[in-house]
Amino acid sequence: MPKYKLICFDVDGTLIEGVEFSWSYLHDCFGVDKNRREKARDDFFNQKITYLEWALHDIGMWMEKGITKKDFLKAISVFSLMPGARETLLALKKQGYKLAVISGSLDIILETMIPDYQDIFDEVFISKLIFGKDGKIKEVIATQYDMKMKAEALKLVAEKYGYSLKECVFVGDHYNDIEIMKHVGLGIAFNCKSDELRSVADIVVNKKDLREVLTLVNA
Ligand SMILES: [Mg+2]
Repeated sequence: MPKYKLICFDVDGTLIEGVEFSWSYLHDCFGVDKNRREKARDDFFNQKITYLEWALHDIGMWMEKGITKKDFLKAISVFSLMPGARETLLALKKQGYKLAVISGSLDIILETMIPDYQDIFDEVFISKLIFGKDGKIKEVIATQYDMKMKAEALKLVAEKYGYSLKECVFVGDHYNDIEIMKHVGLGIAFNCKSDELRSVADIVVNKKDLREVLTLVNA
């Protein structure tokens, strides 16, 4: 019997290389008002607003500026898929693991890097942007499951498939992954930029190659 059944991945900095946090990178690219952006960020970290409210606020600033799908694609063209990502995902899927994305990133990023991501992942928690014919954002389906709430998404998926949290694996790189990392049976800090994440993880992978995860999950 395999030890683990569900493998969950973060996106920015984990499946995708070339970015720590896509939102702040995009704000920089789009020249979003720094004061308003920082106020919303502070409000979130001071628990004045929820993650979802923060996300909607920031997407609202992109909508005000009339940012188009083309602008997003141009901005994210500097990102790349993490080495070994595709091979690892396809191998895990073939081996029968359930796969999930639990991320505060944007679907346009995942879709650009892994066009068939909806076939690969059984569950996807991510913020979705729907663009109109004019290329502008028409609709927003923002996720509430980032930061501490990532752990809640994990619990939802585990419960749906009847797995214990010990049978779940999470792979992530940053401080927004700390809480979820504490709950899984195997927490893998990958391409890690947070000392606290490193300290709560079961294993730290320093080599920037997701095939390391494939080995660890099957060890
Ligand atoms: Mg990340």
